[in-house]
Amino acid sequence: MALISLKGVYYTYLKDTPLEKEALTNVSLDIEQGERIGILGKTGSGKSTLIQLIGGLIYPVVGEIYIKGKEIKKWNSKELCKVVGIVFQYPEYQFFAETVFEEVAFGPRNVGVPEEKIEDCVRGALESVGLSYDELKDRSPFHLSGGEKRRLAIASILAMDPEVLILDEPTANLDPKGKFQIMNYIDKWISKNNKTLIVVSHDLDEIVRLVRRVIVLKAGSLVFEGLSEKLFMNYKKLEEADLDLPEIIKIVKILQEKGYPIEGAFTVQEIV
Ligand code: ADP
Repeated sequence: MALISLKGVYYTYLKDTPLEKEALTNVSLDIEQGERIGILGKTGSGKSTLIQLIGGLIYPVVGEIYIKGKEIKKWNSKELCKVVGIVFQYPEYQFFAETVFEEVAFGPRNVGVPEEKIEDCVRGALESVGLSYDELKDRSPFHLSGGEKRRLAIASILAMDPEVLILDEPTANLDPKGKFQIMNYIDKWISKNNKTLIVVSHDLDEIVRLVRRVIVLKAGSLVFEGLSEKLFMNYKKLEEADLDLPEIIKIVKILQEKGYPIEGAFTVQEIV
C-alpha cells in the first residue's frame, strides 16, 4: 500500500463562478514510504495546489486522496499534521513568536506532545538544522540571519516529526552557502529517520541532488513521472514540460560529470 495515493484528482478554484480555474486535471500518483520525490513545473502549473491537497488543506473536487490507505477527508487535522509536514515558500514571513523556543514549540504543542517532552523536541529539531539550542532559544526569530530564519522555519515543522516532509522552494533567495547547508541538513534528517520527502522547486540543481524521482506538471496535468536522470536525458519530455533551458544545460552538465549515460537522448551541444 502506497503511503500517499492520488486517484484521478481534479481541483478547480472558484468553481461555478466566471473566474473558475481548473488547477489540476486527472492527476494520479502513488508515493511510497521512504521515497524522495521532486515536483517540477512552471509557475501556475499546479504545484502548490498539489501539495495543499496532500496536506489536507483543500480537498479534490473529483477523485480521491488516500494517506496510509485512509481517505484524506476522514483524517482529523491534528493527526494528519503528524503525518504530513509542509514548509511553505518563504516560511520566515510567518514567524509570530517572541522567541526561537516558542516558535518551534508551537507545532508539537498543537499536535499534543506532552509539555515535559517539549524541550527535547525543540532542542532536537534545532540541532537537526544546525542551530544551537542554548545560543538561540531565547533570541527573537526576527533577528536571525536569512539562512538561520529559513532553518528555524524548517525546524518548526521537523519538531512535529512528520512522516512526510513537503518543502516548497526550500532554498529560494538564499546565498549558495545557505542553500548548501539547508540541502545538507534536509538530506541528513530524511536519511537518518527514514522519512519521505517531497520537494517543489524551480531549482533543478536542488532537485537532482535531493530526490531521485520527479514528476512534471504542465497546466495542471502530469506530463512526466520517472527518475530525474531519465527526464534530463529526454529532450522531448523537457520541451513538453516547458522548463528553463539554462537550468537544463546546467543539470545535464552535472549528470555528465557524474557519468550518467546520455546515449539515445541528447548532449549539451545539441540543445545549446
Ligand atoms: P504553481 O504552484 O505551480 O505556481 P498553483 O497551484 O499555485 O501553481 O496554481 C495553479 C493554477 O490555479 C494557476 O492558474 C493559478 O492562477 C490558479 N490559482 C491558484 N490559487 C488560486 C486561487 N486561490 N484562486 C484562483 N485561482 C488560483
